[in-house]
Amino acid sequence: MTTRSTIRIVVCLALFVCALTAAEAFNWRNVCKKCDYINQPSATHCESCQTPMNHCLKCGTDNRIDADYCVKCAAPLAEMRILGSIEPEVREQLKLGESPRARADLDIRSLRHLIAIDPENTEKYQFELGLKYQAINFFSRESETWRAFVKDFPASQHIPLVKQYASESLRKWGYLMYEQGRYSKAVELLNESLQMNPDNKTARTWLGQATKAARRGDRIVEPVEAAEPVYGY
Ligand SMILES: [Zn+2]
Ligand SMILES: [Zn+2]
Repeated sequence: MTTRSTIRIVVCLALFVCALTAAEAFNWRNVCKKCDYINQPSATHCESCQTPMNHCLKCGTDNRIDADYCVKCAAPLAEMRILGSIEPEVREQLKLGESPRARADLDIRSLRHLIAIDPENTEKYQFELGLKYQAINFFSRESETWRAFVKDFPASQHIPLVKQYASESLRKWGYLMYEQGRYSKAVELLNESLQMNPDNKTARTWLGQATKAARRGDRIVEPVEAAEPVYGY
């Protein structure tokens, strides 16, 4: 083997490793699934075979490869890239990504992204976020969202409604804590529920129960995570 050919092999290997690392940095998302062509992160379609590279399944926009959220509708694109690689008929049959929870999860991440890129309209997005958590019965997140809303937008026209919602979600969260034997936490949440809406009769009843139980002490000493769905944030 001549020195020249050895150098050539080494250079080729180095280039291959470089290409591999660059592609891997992008989680292979710039490699066309149809023709294996490695595209620029700014491309929307494969430069070789014209296949859309980052298609939004929600609104149909073809986004740049490096976009994590749809430029038009703000939907998170990571799952869509995976779903998009599955045949539409199979997707339809298995109802992939169609469960109310999966859809709400996408909407929730869209709203968080919108708050980050368009902080001027946080009030509107924060309100919608609370409603999303409400729709999937995620009481702790819903309560936290309404709490933040009341604190950040005390002059909002939504405040009377938000306080009612907050009172209900805090009551349900408090009841959950009661069921888990975390009576002092339940008392705390039910008190907050009544602060949000003093007319919440159910909350008042449960506050009485929880207060009695709390006097005997919590059933569970070690703090446990709420028995609610845990999302990746
Ligand atoms: Zn291609
Ligand atoms: Zn979209």
